Amino acid sequence: MGFDYKAAFDHSLSAIKAEGRYRVFANLERQRGNFPIATRYREDGSAQDVVVWCSNDYLGLGQDPDVLAAMHNALDDVGAGAGGTRNIAGTTKYHVALEKELASLHDKDSALLFTSGYISNEATLSSFSRLLPGCVILSDELNHASMIQGIRGGRGPKLIWRHNDAAHLDELLSSLPADVPKVVAFESVYSMDGDFAPIADILDVTEKHGAFTYLDEVHGVGLYGEKGGGLAQQLGLSDRIDCIEGTLGKAFGIMGGYITGDASMVDAVRSYASSFIFTTALSPVLVAGAIASVRALRDGQDLRRHHQAQAQQLKDKLRAARLPVMDSPSHIVPLWVGNAVQCKAVSDILLDRFGIYVQPINYPTVPKGTERLRFSPSPLHTDEQVEALVSALNTIWSELSLARAAA
Ligand SMILES: *Cc1c(COP(=O)(O)O)cnc(C)c1O
Repeated sequence: MGFDYKAAFDHSLSAIKAEGRYRVFANLERQRGNFPIATRYREDGSAQDVVVWCSNDYLGLGQDPDVLAAMHNALDDVGAGAGGTRNIAGTTKYHVALEKELASLHDKDSALLFTSGYISNEATLSSFSRLLPGCVILSDELNHASMIQGIRGGRGPKLIWRHNDAAHLDELLSSLPADVPKVVAFESVYSMDGDFAPIADILDVTEKHGAFTYLDEVHGVGLYGEKGGGLAQQLGLSDRIDCIEGTLGKAFGIMGGYITGDASMVDAVRSYASSFIFTTALSPVLVAGAIASVRALRDGQDLRRHHQAQAQQLKDKLRAARLPVMDSPSHIVPLWVGNAVQCKAVSDILLDRFGIYVQPINYPTVPKGTERLRFSPSPLHTDEQVEALVSALNTIWSELSLARAAA
């Protein structure tokens, strides 16, 4: 008879279905030049126009005419793929130019490209335990799965500090011998709560203990800072951070990830990190688009201001309607539901009845009991779209008798 593989897979699936956190992907077709509208295909093949409220293409750069032109040109000039790993025929003039551009964006010596932000975190953090013998990694408890995976992959010792708690970090660092290498890993903007790390406080602590700082700016790059170099740049703190990691897939609207920092650190990761070395380089088409996008957002102050204003407008209107918007200083607008089944129900009704698409955020992305909807308003969402969203939520909150915020 042997082992019943299908039954084992099905058993795993029914477990998450019972908890209401089985993931169903919306089948979307983005409409070029019409951000944030997309066509959604239902399972029966019928179609519907929807307003997308949860895209990480925060500024619509994935639709920018200059970015698209750069990609068309690269495709016509050099073809589809890189043709190899970075070491074996896959490094093109586009990769070299983008790495220069990214180092300059963050005012650092060097940068290194990866195939995604996830891989950049996983590859870099897992290589540190080999590059820094005896290294202890201190990780904020709400760090992204890709950092956690990298830290685990390094198989070195790790300590978890309470979210955004610089005093707790100080305590943990004080418990370690002075000559042990210490890497402090955290994010600038935490995308599920939309909160900011107290970067200056953390740096005061890490500098006191001689720790190396690793900052994930995935939700900051393109959106904060005078050149779009992230929250650390906006706060004038970039030069105090040893390694800044970012993505090309969110505000820059394309795909890929990177780290920047001192030349020897970047060169060592380039030389040791397995998931950098043994994989095909990003397509030059993507890289050409990213160059155009990073350059466009260097002068993106107006767009950044408009982005923040739209986020503020949505927060204000949700609050005025006594919908339980969670406090956040950033461009991310989380709305509390607190229950996986209800969270999915709200999202389904928004989509089916109102043509509004926002994915429910459930465990394990957030802890159980803290399920929420997470809106990402962009400068391209119109005031009418904001109104329509708040009015639809208001209706659903009443129909389902969901808890309102205090007046
Ligand atoms: C999305 C995300 C990543 C991964 O970036 P990708 O380019 O999408 O792979 C890394 N860190 C954080 C905090 C993220 O939210």
